[in-house]
Amino acid sequence: MQLFDKTALITGAAGGIGRAIAERFAREGARVAVADLDLAAAETTVEKIRQSGGQAMALAMDVTDEAAVDAGVASLVARWDGLDVVVANAGIQHIEPLHSLAFADWRKVIAVHLDGAFLVTAAALRQMYRQEQGGCLLYMGSVHSKLASPLKAPYVTAKHGLLGLCRSVAREGAAHRVRANLICPGFVRTPLVDRQIPEQAEALGISEEAVIGDIMLKDTVDGEFTTLEDIAEVAVHLAAFPSAALTGQSVVASHGWHMQ
Ligand code: NAD
Repeated sequence: MQLFDKTALITGAAGGIGRAIAERFAREGARVAVADLDLAAAETTVEKIRQSGGQAMALAMDVTDEAAVDAGVASLVARWDGLDVVVANAGIQHIEPLHSLAFADWRKVIAVHLDGAFLVTAAALRQMYRQEQGGCLLYMGSVHSKLASPLKAPYVTAKHGLLGLCRSVAREGAAHRVRANLICPGFVRTPLVDRQIPEQAEALGISEEAVIGDIMLKDTVDGEFTTLEDIAEVAVHLAAFPSAALTGQSVVASHGWHMQ
């Protein structure tokens, strides 16, 4: 059990990649707080973890709401008396070219990824510095932390920004033995990706099959989507890593879609 007796907070963990990480962390012995906008879905995830013998709690949390983030962290600390690992995972996508993108849509994507990651970071660091036992922050970046694709400007901008936040935490957190790393997945079949297949097909005037074959999988080494298990494996590895040899790093897990 690589995360035995650790306490973890995972945002956006009611579904998709966050849920896969929550379930895997619990199997590795961690107590897991499943934070999400969607409390009912978070509770379903928690129930599943408990039925498998794991420890979990659900938190209603909009990561762009400072009071909700602070209250969520406070209630998990009150229950489990500490916080060791955070995965800032909550995220949304918006498919549209820049010239017609509404300012409100730009701000919404930036807010969920960057304001959300900042608020979770600040609350976590206050707790981790207080308890003086080190800690680990993981940010859910993307191959779009490294490169750009058309129609995704706010997402690409936010994902590049997370790299800066991660590196800043690595620098400032080192004195307190807090590490920070960025996970950069390729395309993973979650609701976030399933929604954008028809949207991209329409915006680019190509078929859904072409979006999958010519965009999402074209440059992979094996024609495979990145899986939930792939990303959960990377998250466990980074969370359990024993020293600051791995801090301020970004790990691309994309079946070769992007090679850095
Ligand atoms: P998803 O849509 O399946 O799940 C996202 C979860 O975040 C949902 O449960 C949603 O309710 C929650 N959420 C959304 N806004 C929130 C908010 N303001 N506060 C709290 N929770 C909120 O998406 P996913 O594919 O699992 O994506 C998870 C993360 O992985 C995102 O940051 C995404 O950008 C990143 N990512 C996904 C892929 C992919 O191919 N799926 C690739 C690279 C990076």
